[in-house]
Amino acid sequence: MRFQELPTPVYVIDEARLKANLLILSELEKRSGCRILLAQKAFSAFSLYPLIGRYISGTAASGLYEARLGLEEMGKENHVYSPAYKADEIDELCRICSHVIFNSIRQFETFFPRLSGVSAGLRINPCHSTQSGAIYDPCAPFSRLGIPREHFPAELPAGVEGFHMHTLCEQNSDALVETFKVLERDFSRHFRALKWLNLGGGHHITRPGYDITALERLIGYIRDEYGLTVYLEPGEAVALNAGRLVTTVLDIVENGKSILILDASAACHMPDVLEMPYRPPLHGAGLPGEKPYEYRLAARTCLAGDSIGDYSFDKPVEIGDRLIFDDMAIYTMVKNNTFNGMPLPSIALLRENGEAELVKSFGYEDFKGRLS
Ligand SMILES: *Cc1c(COP(=O)(O)O)cnc(C)c1O
Repeated sequence: MRFQELPTPVYVIDEARLKANLLILSELEKRSGCRILLAQKAFSAFSLYPLIGRYISGTAASGLYEARLGLEEMGKENHVYSPAYKADEIDELCRICSHVIFNSIRQFETFFPRLSGVSAGLRINPCHSTQSGAIYDPCAPFSRLGIPREHFPAELPAGVEGFHMHTLCEQNSDALVETFKVLERDFSRHFRALKWLNLGGGHHITRPGYDITALERLIGYIRDEYGLTVYLEPGEAVALNAGRLVTTVLDIVENGKSILILDASAACHMPDVLEMPYRPPLHGAGLPGEKPYEYRLAARTCLAGDSIGDYSFDKPVEIGDRLIFDDMAIYTMVKNNTFNGMPLPSIALLRENGEAELVKSFGYEDFKGRLS
Protein backbone atom coordinates (compact mmCIF):
# COMPACT_ATOMS: atom_id res chain seq x y z
CA MET A 1 0.00 0.00 0.00
CA ARG A 2 1.14 3.55 -0.57
CA PHE A 3 1.40 5.97 2.33
CA GLN A 4 -1.26 8.14 0.63
CA GLU A 5 -3.71 5.22 0.53
CA LEU A 6 -3.75 4.45 4.24
CA PRO A 7 -7.19 5.00 5.79
CA THR A 8 -7.21 7.77 8.41
CA PRO A 9 -6.82 8.39 11.24
CA VAL A 10 -3.63 6.37 11.29
CA TYR A 11 -0.35 6.37 13.16
CA VAL A 12 2.46 5.58 10.77
CA ILE A 13 5.65 4.35 12.36
CA ASP A 14 8.70 5.13 10.26
CA GLU A 15 11.02 2.14 10.20
CA ALA A 16 14.02 4.07 8.86
CA ARG A 17 13.76 6.76 11.54
CA LEU A 18 13.28 4.17 14.26
CA LYS A 19 16.36 2.31 13.06
CA ALA A 20 18.40 5.50 13.00
CA ASN A 21 17.51 6.08 16.68
CA LEU A 22 18.23 2.47 17.57
CA LEU A 23 21.63 2.63 15.91
CA ILE A 24 22.60 5.60 18.09
CA LEU A 25 21.48 3.69 21.18
CA SER A 26 23.17 0.43 20.27
CA GLU A 27 26.43 2.19 19.53
CA LEU A 28 26.21 3.92 22.90
CA GLU A 29 25.74 0.51 24.54
CA LYS A 30 28.76 -0.89 22.73
CA ARG A 31 31.07 2.03 23.41
CA SER A 32 30.14 2.62 27.05
CA GLY A 33 29.10 -0.81 28.29
CA CYS A 34 25.76 0.55 29.54
CA ARG A 35 22.53 -1.33 28.91
CA ILE A 36 19.56 0.32 27.34
CA LEU A 37 15.96 -0.70 27.91
CA LEU A 38 12.86 0.45 26.05
CA ALA A 39 10.53 2.21 28.49
CA GLN A 40 7.34 0.70 27.14
CA LYS A 41 5.10 3.32 28.66
CA ALA A 42 6.17 5.71 25.89
CA PHE A 43 6.03 3.26 23.00
CA SER A 44 4.53 -0.22 23.08
CA ALA A 45 4.23 -0.96 19.34
CA PHE A 46 5.14 -4.56 19.95
CA SER A 47 5.19 -5.57 16.29
CA LEU A 48 8.51 -3.68 16.26
CA TYR A 49 9.91 -5.30 19.43
CA PRO A 50 11.82 -7.97 17.48
CA LEU A 51 13.54 -5.19 15.54
CA ILE A 52 14.17 -3.10 18.67
CA GLY A 53 15.53 -6.16 20.47
CA ARG A 54 18.25 -6.51 17.84
CA TYR A 55 19.68 -3.17 18.92
CA ILE A 56 19.14 -2.74 22.69
CA SER A 57 19.20 -4.92 25.82
CA GLY A 58 15.54 -5.22 26.73
CA THR A 59 12.41 -3.67 28.15
CA ALA A 60 11.39 -1.60 31.17
CA ALA A 61 7.83 -1.94 32.47
CA SER A 62 5.60 0.14 34.72
CA GLY A 63 3.75 -2.89 36.02
CA LEU A 64 2.60 -6.41 35.33
CA TYR A 65 0.97 -5.92 31.94
CA GLU A 66 3.85 -4.06 30.36
CA ALA A 67 6.21 -6.63 31.87
CA ARG A 68 4.21 -9.42 30.22
CA LEU A 69 4.28 -7.61 26.91
CA GLY A 70 8.04 -7.12 27.13
CA LEU A 71 8.62 -10.80 27.83
CA GLU A 72 6.20 -12.06 25.19
CA GLU A 73 7.27 -9.76 22.38
CA MET A 74 10.94 -8.98 23.04
CA GLY A 75 12.04 -11.62 25.52
CA LYS A 76 15.29 -10.00 26.65
CA GLU A 77 16.16 -8.34 29.98
CA ASN A 78 12.85 -7.33 31.51
CA HIS A 79 12.84 -4.78 34.35
CA VAL A 80 9.78 -3.63 36.26
CA TYR A 81 9.22 -0.69 38.57
CA SER A 82 5.91 0.30 40.13
CA PRO A 83 5.08 2.73 42.95
CA ALA A 84 3.37 -0.27 44.58
CA TYR A 85 2.88 -3.94 43.75
CA LYS A 86 -0.06 -6.06 44.81
CA ALA A 87 0.55 -9.32 46.66
CA ASP A 88 -0.99 -11.37 43.85
CA GLU A 89 1.39 -9.93 41.25
CA ILE A 90 4.70 -10.90 42.80
CA ASP A 91 4.96 -14.54 41.79
CA GLU A 92 4.19 -13.78 38.16
CA LEU A 93 6.59 -10.83 38.14
CA CYS A 94 9.33 -13.15 39.41
CA ARG A 95 8.62 -15.56 36.57
CA ILE A 96 8.70 -12.94 33.82
CA CYS A 97 11.15 -10.27 35.01
CA SER A 98 14.88 -10.17 35.46
CA HIS A 99 14.84 -7.09 37.73
CA VAL A 100 12.13 -5.93 40.15
CA ILE A 101 12.43 -2.42 41.55
CA PHE A 102 10.59 -1.30 44.68
CA ASN A 103 9.48 2.19 45.57
CA SER A 104 9.63 1.91 49.37
CA ILE A 105 11.43 -0.02 52.07
CA ARG A 106 8.05 -1.35 53.20
CA GLN A 107 7.23 -2.80 49.76
CA PHE A 108 10.71 -4.27 49.52
CA GLU A 109 10.52 -5.88 52.97
CA THR A 110 7.00 -7.19 52.36
CA PHE A 111 7.85 -8.93 49.12
CA PHE A 112 11.58 -9.71 49.32
CA PRO A 113 11.03 -13.10 51.01
CA ARG A 114 8.93 -14.15 47.99
CA LEU A 115 11.42 -13.09 45.33
CA SER A 116 13.30 -15.75 43.49
CA GLY A 117 15.52 -15.56 40.47
CA VAL A 118 15.28 -11.78 40.12
CA SER A 119 17.59 -8.93 40.98
CA ALA A 120 15.93 -6.56 43.46
CA GLY A 121 16.38 -2.81 43.46
CA LEU A 122 15.12 0.30 45.22
CA ARG A 123 14.04 3.52 43.58
CA ILE A 124 15.62 6.49 45.25
CA ASN A 125 14.69 10.12 44.88
CA PRO A 126 17.59 12.57 44.70
CA CYS A 127 15.07 15.38 45.25
CA HIS A 128 16.96 17.55 42.79
CA SER A 129 14.77 19.13 40.12
CA THR A 130 16.35 20.06 36.82
CA GLN A 131 13.07 20.96 35.12
CA SER A 132 9.98 23.03 35.61
CA GLY A 133 6.46 21.66 35.30
CA ALA A 134 5.58 19.54 38.34
CA ILE A 135 3.41 17.01 36.50
CA TYR A 136 6.49 15.55 34.82
CA ASP A 137 8.90 16.13 37.71
CA PRO A 138 9.44 13.17 40.05
CA CYS A 139 11.55 15.50 42.23
CA ALA A 140 8.74 18.00 42.81
CA PRO A 141 7.70 18.56 46.44
CA PHE A 142 5.72 15.69 48.02
CA SER A 143 6.64 13.32 45.18
CA ARG A 144 5.76 9.67 45.87
CA LEU A 145 8.34 8.45 43.36
CA GLY A 146 11.40 7.05 45.10
CA ILE A 147 12.88 7.13 48.59
CA PRO A 148 14.32 10.50 49.62
CA ARG A 149 17.66 10.63 51.43
CA GLU A 150 16.16 11.41 54.82
CA HIS A 151 13.98 8.31 54.72
CA PHE A 152 16.69 5.96 53.52
CA PRO A 153 17.99 3.62 56.24
CA ALA A 154 21.58 3.95 57.44
CA GLU A 155 22.23 0.33 56.45
CA LEU A 156 21.45 -0.92 52.97
CA PRO A 157 18.69 -3.56 53.35
CA ALA A 158 20.13 -7.03 52.70
CA GLY A 159 19.26 -8.33 49.25
CA VAL A 160 19.20 -5.00 47.43
CA GLU A 161 21.36 -5.27 44.29
CA GLY A 162 20.63 -2.00 42.55
CA PHE A 163 19.37 1.55 42.76
CA HIS A 164 16.99 3.14 40.31
CA MET A 165 16.31 6.82 39.78
CA HIS A 166 14.18 8.60 37.22
CA THR A 167 14.09 12.37 37.38
CA LEU A 168 14.52 13.76 33.87
CA CYS A 169 12.11 14.61 31.08
CA GLU A 170 13.31 15.43 27.56
CA GLN A 171 16.67 16.57 28.89
CA ASN A 172 20.28 16.77 27.83
CA SER A 173 23.15 15.01 29.60
CA ASP A 174 24.11 18.11 31.60
CA ALA A 175 20.95 17.64 33.71
CA LEU A 176 21.94 14.03 34.31
CA VAL A 177 25.51 14.92 35.27
CA GLU A 178 24.18 17.53 37.71
CA THR A 179 21.68 15.08 39.22
CA PHE A 180 24.27 12.32 39.51
CA LYS A 181 26.45 14.62 41.65
CA VAL A 182 23.58 14.87 44.15
CA LEU A 183 22.97 11.13 43.97
CA GLU A 184 26.64 10.47 44.58
CA ARG A 185 26.80 12.88 47.51
CA ASP A 186 23.77 11.34 49.22
CA PHE A 187 23.79 7.66 48.30
CA SER A 188 27.25 6.57 47.09
CA ARG A 189 28.17 5.10 50.48
CA HIS A 190 26.01 2.15 49.38
CA PHE A 191 27.21 1.95 45.77
CA ARG A 192 29.99 -0.58 46.34
CA ALA A 193 27.48 -3.06 47.76
CA LEU A 194 25.40 -2.87 44.57
CA LYS A 195 25.61 -4.45 41.13
CA TRP A 196 23.71 -1.95 39.03
CA LEU A 197 22.49 1.60 38.82
CA ASN A 198 19.49 2.46 36.66
CA LEU A 199 19.43 6.12 35.64
CA GLY A 200 15.85 5.98 34.36
CA GLY A 201 14.56 7.76 31.29
CA GLY A 202 14.13 11.31 30.10
CA HIS A 203 17.49 11.27 28.30
CA HIS A 204 16.84 12.79 24.88
CA ILE A 205 19.80 10.88 23.46
CA THR A 206 18.60 10.73 19.86
CA ARG A 207 17.74 14.43 19.61
CA PRO A 208 20.09 16.49 17.45
CA GLY A 209 22.40 18.39 19.77
CA TYR A 210 22.31 15.90 22.64
CA ASP A 211 25.76 15.71 24.25
CA ILE A 212 26.37 11.98 24.08
CA THR A 213 30.05 12.33 24.98
CA ALA A 214 29.19 13.73 28.41
CA LEU A 215 26.78 10.83 28.96
CA GLU A 216 29.46 8.31 28.01
CA ARG A 217 31.95 9.98 30.30
CA LEU A 218 29.52 9.69 33.21
CA ILE A 219 28.75 6.03 32.47
CA GLY A 220 32.49 5.30 32.32
CA TYR A 221 33.04 7.08 35.62
CA ILE A 222 30.29 5.11 37.38
CA ARG A 223 31.69 1.86 36.03
CA ASP A 224 35.30 2.60 36.90
CA GLU A 225 34.73 4.24 40.27
CA TYR A 226 32.01 1.95 41.65
CA GLY A 227 32.00 -1.13 39.43
CA LEU A 228 28.31 -0.72 38.61
CA THR A 229 26.48 -1.72 35.44
CA VAL A 230 24.60 1.35 34.26
CA TYR A 231 21.10 0.99 32.86
CA LEU A 232 19.25 3.67 30.92
CA GLU A 233 15.57 3.26 30.13
CA PRO A 234 14.62 5.89 27.58
CA GLY A 235 11.12 5.89 26.14
CA GLU A 236 11.02 9.00 24.01
CA ALA A 237 14.55 8.65 22.68
CA VAL A 238 13.79 5.24 21.16
CA ALA A 239 10.99 6.44 18.90
CA LEU A 240 11.63 10.19 18.81
CA ASN A 241 10.45 11.63 15.49
CA ALA A 242 9.75 8.11 14.28
CA GLY A 243 6.00 8.33 13.76
CA ARG A 244 3.25 10.45 12.25
CA LEU A 245 -0.46 10.78 12.77
CA VAL A 246 -2.31 11.23 9.50
CA THR A 247 -5.77 12.78 9.67
CA THR A 248 -8.39 13.90 7.15
CA VAL A 249 -10.23 17.24 7.13
CA LEU A 250 -13.95 16.42 7.45
CA ASP A 251 -15.44 19.90 7.55
CA ILE A 252 -14.57 23.57 7.85
CA VAL A 253 -16.70 25.79 10.08
CA GLU A 254 -16.51 29.51 10.79
CA ASN A 255 -16.69 31.33 14.11
CA GLY A 256 -14.26 34.23 14.22
CA LYS A 257 -11.70 31.85 12.69
CA SER A 258 -11.84 29.09 10.13
CA ILE A 259 -11.91 25.85 12.06
CA LEU A 260 -10.97 22.49 10.55
CA ILE A 261 -12.83 19.48 11.91
CA LEU A 262 -10.50 16.47 11.77
CA ASP A 263 -10.94 12.74 12.21
CA ALA A 264 -8.20 12.84 14.87
CA SER A 265 -8.59 14.24 18.38
CA ALA A 266 -6.14 15.76 20.82
CA ALA A 267 -8.08 14.38 23.79
CA CYS A 268 -8.27 10.84 22.39
CA HIS A 269 -5.22 10.43 20.17
CA MET A 270 -2.57 12.90 21.31
CA PRO A 271 -3.45 13.70 24.93
CA ASP A 272 -0.03 15.23 25.65
CA VAL A 273 -1.03 18.11 23.40
CA LEU A 274 -3.56 19.08 26.09
CA GLU A 275 -1.64 17.80 29.14
CA MET A 276 1.87 19.11 28.52
CA PRO A 277 0.59 21.23 26.72
CA TYR A 278 2.47 21.41 23.44
CA ARG A 279 2.00 22.13 19.78
CA PRO A 280 2.71 19.17 17.52
CA PRO A 281 4.64 19.92 14.35
CA LEU A 282 2.45 19.72 11.23
CA HIS A 283 3.88 19.01 7.76
CA GLY A 284 3.95 22.07 5.51
CA ALA A 285 2.29 24.37 8.06
CA GLY A 286 3.57 27.34 10.00
CA LEU A 287 2.82 29.40 13.06
CA PRO A 288 -0.23 31.68 12.98
CA GLY A 289 0.63 34.68 10.82
CA GLU A 290 3.55 32.97 9.13
CA LYS A 291 1.64 31.86 6.01
CA PRO A 292 -1.42 33.45 4.39
CA TYR A 293 -4.18 30.93 5.26
CA GLU A 294 -4.85 30.35 8.92
CA TYR A 295 -6.96 27.69 10.63
CA ARG A 296 -7.69 26.27 14.03
CA LEU A 297 -7.33 22.47 14.00
CA ALA A 298 -9.97 20.72 16.07
CA ALA A 299 -11.56 17.34 16.67
CA ARG A 300 -15.00 15.91 16.10
CA THR A 301 -15.51 15.26 19.81
CA CYS A 302 -17.89 17.32 21.95
CA LEU A 303 -15.09 18.60 24.20
CA ALA A 304 -14.95 22.35 23.57
CA GLY A 305 -11.21 22.44 24.24
CA ASP A 306 -10.34 19.53 21.94
CA SER A 307 -8.22 21.71 19.71
CA ILE A 308 -4.71 20.99 18.51
CA GLY A 309 -3.79 24.61 17.87
CA ASP A 310 -3.73 27.32 15.23
CA TYR A 311 -1.64 26.73 12.09
CA SER A 312 -1.09 28.64 8.86
CA PHE A 313 -0.79 27.26 5.31
CA ASP A 314 0.44 28.39 1.89
CA LYS A 315 -2.87 27.63 0.23
CA PRO A 316 -6.46 27.16 1.39
CA VAL A 317 -7.15 23.83 3.07
CA GLU A 318 -9.99 21.82 1.54
CA ILE A 319 -12.34 19.17 2.83
CA GLY A 320 -10.74 15.79 2.18
CA ASP A 321 -7.18 17.09 2.54
CA ARG A 322 -4.85 14.98 4.65
CA LEU A 323 -2.84 16.63 7.39
CA ILE A 324 0.23 14.95 8.86
CA PHE A 325 1.37 15.52 12.43
CA ASP A 326 5.00 14.68 13.18
CA ASP A 327 6.58 13.03 16.21
CA MET A 328 3.48 11.02 16.99
CA ALA A 329 4.96 7.63 17.87
CA ILE A 330 5.62 8.39 21.53
CA TYR A 331 3.05 8.82 24.30
CA THR A 332 0.21 8.56 21.76
CA MET A 333 -0.85 4.99 20.94
CA VAL A 334 -0.20 4.01 24.55
CA LYS A 335 -2.49 6.78 25.83
CA ASN A 336 -5.34 6.41 23.38
CA ASN A 337 -8.89 6.33 24.58
CA THR A 338 -12.32 6.10 22.97
CA PHE A 339 -13.94 9.07 24.71
CA ASN A 340 -17.04 10.12 22.74
CA GLY A 341 -16.90 6.73 21.03
CA MET A 342 -14.09 8.03 18.84
CA PRO A 343 -12.55 5.33 16.63
CA LEU A 344 -8.97 4.48 17.53
CA PRO A 345 -6.47 5.32 14.78
CA SER A 346 -5.04 2.35 12.91
CA ILE A 347 -1.37 1.54 13.29
CA ALA A 348 0.75 1.30 10.16
CA LEU A 349 4.40 0.88 9.34
CA LEU A 350 6.29 2.79 6.68
CA ARG A 351 8.95 0.36 5.52
CA GLU A 352 12.40 1.49 4.50
CA ASN A 353 11.53 0.76 0.86
CA GLY A 354 8.67 3.27 1.01
CA GLU A 355 5.87 0.68 1.21
CA ALA A 356 3.21 1.31 3.83
CA GLU A 357 1.77 -1.64 5.71
CA LEU A 358 -1.39 -1.51 7.79
CA VAL A 359 -0.44 -3.42 10.94
CA LYS A 360 -3.65 -3.12 12.94
CA SER A 361 -7.09 -1.57 12.63
CA PHE A 362 -9.62 -1.08 15.38
CA GLY A 363 -13.39 -1.09 15.32
CA TYR A 364 -16.55 -0.76 17.32
CA GLU A 365 -15.64 -3.89 19.33
CA ASP A 366 -12.62 -2.11 20.78
CA PHE A 367 -14.88 0.65 22.08
CA LYS A 368 -17.57 -1.67 23.39
CA GLY A 369 -15.12 -4.23 24.76
CA ARG A 370 -13.91 -1.94 27.53
CA LEU A 371 -17.40 -1.08 28.71
CA SER A 372 -20.28 -3.03 30.10
C1 LIG B 1 8.60 7.71 32.02
C2 LIG B 1 9.67 6.83 32.50
C3 LIG B 1 10.71 6.45 31.64
C4 LIG B 1 10.81 6.94 30.21
O1 LIG B 1 10.88 8.31 30.13
P1 LIG B 1 11.12 9.06 28.72
O2 LIG B 1 10.95 10.50 29.09
O3 LIG B 1 10.07 8.60 27.80
O4 LIG B 1 12.48 8.72 28.27
C5 LIG B 1 11.67 5.61 32.15
N1 LIG B 1 11.62 5.16 33.42
C6 LIG B 1 10.63 5.51 34.27
C7 LIG B 1 10.63 4.97 35.65
C8 LIG B 1 9.62 6.34 33.85
O5 LIG B 1 8.65 6.70 34.69
